Amino acid sequence: MPLDPKTPAQTNAALMARRKAALPSGLGQTYEVFAARAEGAEIWDVEGKRYIDFAGGIAVLNTGHRHPKIVEAVKQQLDQYHHTCFQVLAYEPYVELAERLIAKTPGNFAKKAFFLSSGAEAVENAIKIARAATKRQGVIAFGGGFHGRTLMGMALTGKVAPYKAGFGPFPAEIYHAEFPNALHGVSVADALKSLEHLFKYDIEPERVAAIILEPVQGEGGFYVAPPEFAQALRALCDKHGIVLIADEVQTGAGRTGTWLACEQWDVAPDLITMAKSMAGGFPLSAVIGKAEIMDKPGPGGLGGTYAGNPLACAAALAVLDVFEEEKLLDRSKAVGERLRKGLTALASQHKSILDVRGLGAMIAIELFKGGDITQPDADLTKRVCAEAIQRGLVLLSCGVYANVIRVLVPLTASDAILDEGLAVLGESLKAAGA
Ligand code: PMP
Repeated sequence: MPLDPKTPAQTNAALMARRKAALPSGLGQTYEVFAARAEGAEIWDVEGKRYIDFAGGIAVLNTGHRHPKIVEAVKQQLDQYHHTCFQVLAYEPYVELAERLIAKTPGNFAKKAFFLSSGAEAVENAIKIARAATKRQGVIAFGGGFHGRTLMGMALTGKVAPYKAGFGPFPAEIYHAEFPNALHGVSVADALKSLEHLFKYDIEPERVAAIILEPVQGEGGFYVAPPEFAQALRALCDKHGIVLIADEVQTGAGRTGTWLACEQWDVAPDLITMAKSMAGGFPLSAVIGKAEIMDKPGPGGLGGTYAGNPLACAAALAVLDVFEEEKLLDRSKAVGERLRKGLTALASQHKSILDVRGLGAMIAIELFKGGDITQPDADLTKRVCAEAIQRGLVLLSCGVYANVIRVLVPLTASDAILDEGLAVLGESLKAAGA
């Protein structure tokens, strides 16, 4: 697609220079590329170069760039009103969205939902609610987990650099247990034992308000929490009156082949956080959960000026429509199968790839120097991403060792685009010496 002729002639290099002068260096930028236009699973930069988007704005674009139904819904909302602050003057799309999300959330109990603007805020609020409901302070999260860049989000996040280093002190009463990770030798039994150790040496379970985990660790490296682990956590939480929180900010909204990844656990969390793809690219997040817990904070204890903005709610309702009308959950499974097949084929050709893993369309490969499991290869991972962007493919790395390449391509991408992206990834692996 040609660039909009009105787009002023710019170069990525000139914009990078302006960026460097005006923005702090702590604000990361994976690639020195500035977007000009995007459609579906494709992006064009300011110089007119086309990219296939395997990053999806970090899991935000399950319905693709500028889905026409979402664009239309937001335009219509913009013509009516675009901000009142829900706590001052309410509006129906917010309530309808809560009702529709509740209906899609597992758990045979009454539920409630409310909205915020970012994933980190949803996590903050889930912890506030769990503490208010239990009148306890302790929170257990997991090594390698990621929960946001606010103080509580950082405290819960289980990786020091770059997320936490230099930013403390953090909120008190946060503890970390091991997350199961078969590839790196942590079994479900090991992970549960590390929880027992916490209960024995650090905090008795009667002081724990919540256990929070991602069904698939996103930033941590696409490690999947096995159903038996989630079931064991559910039993522990039931036994000790602890609130179980599933952070579905990255896994939610259809990415893993079900609307929520926790549906595949056969376990109903007490609280669920969502954000990212739930509003197709508009800033919106949610806490959804058991009504008796959600109702515990007192009047005025929850909210935020922009929280549940009408444009974002309209977008989120359109996302739900798109999932139903276009059967995107089926597509998510099909995209996942195609990617897994393609990545498995690449793994058989490149000895540095020791694992292809994930859930549904949330899939990754993990790279090791010379195929040696003791040598996670972050440099190689960087080189593969650099080769890919040269060739017009946007990739994202992740993982506690920064040696994982993850795919978060829009679920609306055609088979042809998926195959083209996989082929470019193959060329990039070869060029990087994988
Ligand atoms: N939780 C998880 C699981 C995430 O993946 C992220 C973002 N990567 C967050 C929380 C924080 O979301 P946000 O960046 O919208 O604050």
